[in-house]
Amino acid sequence: MNKATSAALTVLKFGGTSVTNAENWPRIAQLIHQRRADGLQVLVVHSALRGVTDLLQGSLNAAVDGQIGGHVDDIRQLHEQLANALGIELPPSMTPVLAELEQLLAGIRLIREVTPKITARVLACGELLSSRLSEHWLQQHGLDVTWRDARELLVTVAERRELRHYLNASCDTDEDVQLRAQLADEPIVLTQGFIAADAAGDTVVLGRGGSDTSAAYFAAKMQAQQLEIWTDVPGLFSADPNVVSGARQLKNLHYSEAQEIASAGGQVLHPRSIGPAWRWSIPVHVRWTSRPDIRGTLISDTTGETEPQVKAVVMRQGVTLISIESVSMWQQSGFLARVFHVFGTQRVSVGLVSTSESSITVSLDDLDAPVDTTTIDGLREALSPLGHVQVLRDCAAVSIVGRKIRTILSGLGPLFEIFAEHKLHLLSQAANDLNLTVVVDTAQGFRLVQQLHPAVMANQPTNQTLGPSWEALQDTNTIDKAVVPEAWWRANAQALISAMRSHESLYLYDRITIEARIAGLQSLSQVDRVFYAMKANPHASILQLVHDAGLGFECVSPQEIDAVLSQFPDIERERILFTPNFCAQSDYQYGFEQAVRVTLDNVFPLQAWPETFANQSVMVRVDPGQGRGHHEHVRTAGIHSKFGVPQFELSRFAELTDAVSCSVVGIHAHTGSGVTQSDNWRLVGQALADAASYFPNARYLDLGGGLGVPEKPGDTVLDLRQLDQSLLSLKQQYPQYEIWLEPGRFVVAEAGVLLARVTQTKGKGDVRYVGVATGMNSLIRPALYGAFHEIVNLSRLSEPPAYPTNVVGPICETGDKLGTDRLLPACQAGDVILIANAGAYGAAMASHYNGRPPAREMLLER
Ligand code: ASP
Ligand code: MG
Repeated sequence: MNKATSAALTVLKFGGTSVTNAENWPRIAQLIHQRRADGLQVLVVHSALRGVTDLLQGSLNAAVDGQIGGHVDDIRQLHEQLANALGIELPPSMTPVLAELEQLLAGIRLIREVTPKITARVLACGELLSSRLSEHWLQQHGLDVTWRDARELLVTVAERRELRHYLNASCDTDEDVQLRAQLADEPIVLTQGFIAADAAGDTVVLGRGGSDTSAAYFAAKMQAQQLEIWTDVPGLFSADPNVVSGARQLKNLHYSEAQEIASAGGQVLHPRSIGPAWRWSIPVHVRWTSRPDIRGTLISDTTGETEPQVKAVVMRQGVTLISIESVSMWQQSGFLARVFHVFGTQRVSVGLVSTSESSITVSLDDLDAPVDTTTIDGLREALSPLGHVQVLRDCAAVSIVGRKIRTILSGLGPLFEIFAEHKLHLLSQAANDLNLTVVVDTAQGFRLVQQLHPAVMANQPTNQTLGPSWEALQDTNTIDKAVVPEAWWRANAQALISAMRSHESLYLYDRITIEARIAGLQSLSQVDRVFYAMKANPHASILQLVHDAGLGFECVSPQEIDAVLSQFPDIERERILFTPNFCAQSDYQYGFEQAVRVTLDNVFPLQAWPETFANQSVMVRVDPGQGRGHHEHVRTAGIHSKFGVPQFELSRFAELTDAVSCSVVGIHAHTGSGVTQSDNWRLVGQALADAASYFPNARYLDLGGGLGVPEKPGDTVLDLRQLDQSLLSLKQQYPQYEIWLEPGRFVVAEAGVLLARVTQTKGKGDVRYVGVATGMNSLIRPALYGAFHEIVNLSRLSEPPAYPTNVVGPICETGDKLGTDRLLPACQAGDVILIANAGAYGAAMASHYNGRPPAREMLLER
């Protein structure tokens, strides 16, 4: 390698989340300045704004259906929002791109067809637009940037297969002397990730998430000194921190390990982005745009380690397995050859393989694009002469990745106990000794990762690789305050400690926070009625606040209705919404007797007990067929959901209600909880409005709840203004309906904390336990969902958090943990521990398990 001919260069790639957050732009400008000051030429590779590539894909689908969707407006709006936040206007250079996009879509609408070639042109608009906006801002801030169209810089290698050619294109990784010469006089080049041109000059894209790959190609071609991937997490982790709370940052990785993690499903880097850097030994530095002070992960070929070590537990979803079972395989030669010949001729590449005496199971390698049904049918047919063929779709592959895995496994006996709990479809140990992978049903994947991670990471010697845990990185006080406002309890620590004087454990609910959340909901101008889902927290003082603010109540049982009626005997009955699920006939009868609004979510009751519904009016809960949510257990829609009438039964539902003169006055859906994408409810509303075609009397669209609450610093906060905006477009389209929401968690989660006194401590070394006076009997969410609750030692708020600590309760269950690997100061008996965000589904789900009463509850007036 000869880098002496031109100035040394660094490639800075910024991902979608990084460039969408206005607060990052001064940081990005600063980074570019610093690199220039270090004498480096800078090449910035830019992603589309977050969500824009999805919107573009959506616009294509809508155009093929002939719909005039609002996607382009939404895209323009996203850019306007960012421009506003940055204090600039949209630059005129964006206009031709938006115009071209409109034209392309109009063309597709006309011919009702789209080719991969046109798809690539449409998808390319995201990066073209965002990079124009940044060019404008950076120039206004005194940076001499040159905007370059990536299609003039990056040319792909010819590939014959059409789909790959346009939508999953690849480039060679040779040094490109011409390119270097072309850019030599430009100190700061700003270009787009994801897009390139083919030899004929047509636009192509590098596959979803392909901006990383673009950056790696540029680094190789330009012989960069380093490749910096700036993203929304501080590097690669030993597991997905959203799934495993004790996930540790990985400080150093060899290219081979990073490749293995990326291919096994690690979300941070695109698997195709490692190779180009590896070939030229260009160090890849993965860093967090919001916190440039954190070092991140360095990927290179000099990790200096030779010891066996587990690096990560990674999961990949959507895996397809094919197994071929044949008695003739036994003592036969050539069977495997025949099987693989079929995969070869069908041009399907195989990922994992495991064989037994009479069967072979393979996973399909669909890293670039999911394998389509036609291909699978083709394989099934071609393989069937060789034996009994079985196809399993939608599996999860869970991999333990590390160095010399074989050596480590012998010491991990307990691992096999964990495996025994799960149905393994395939187990494969890579010949390169870098991973061990098992394939299970998707539903089991998360749990398996949560169980495996602590088992394989425990007792790892302190070494250069493992950095702080995710929590520890969040805990360093410099976290972006703008992302998550300071919690109310920090400023009131003394008052909380005093409240604990005569208690061992206590739930405290902050009135001011509850009122603020209610006020936020009432500020939604497009929402006509809000019902509080009281199952989240039915404490009388909270019901009172909800009632006094004028909200309604959503009840899921006769007992909840009774609670409301006995506390507020004069309440207007239409403020009570009754949404039972799989209940007895008598529950419906009770709802009608009490004259509250009843929701029906299955055709069975209409068939079995038509008389109950005769001449009544009901709401219908539909299953919109797609679930969103933070955990499998709370994803309440989709084919496996026990909730809602599926689309295909709606006409039957309408017939049955008509037959007994039951009027369907409203339509409801709830798609999961913990949702922070503000557009979610507009989409739900759209689905409901579609379903309304069966129900001419419908006047209400109840969009459900699920409004997300940030759990950790850095989590996305649901933007109520954006939510209102997106509901405005729904309302404009369907002015005939009232819009309802029924949040529960959103109202109370952040207002509540669980306080518990330290009873005992154990351990001084790497694993410390802190026992507190109450556990899963008060708060079962961590045990039940693996939910994350922030934990602090309230008595020692000013001491630096120093030791990874497991906070456990007194219940006789291994699962009785409130938090694992939390960074806390050394705790002592008598200290008060605070578990945050415990206002929703805390006390409401508490029990007397082990005969131990759960924490008492109290409203805090401050
Ligand atoms: N914008 C593209 C995508 O969302 C590429 C990227 O951001 O890496 O897939
Ligand atoms: Mg990415």
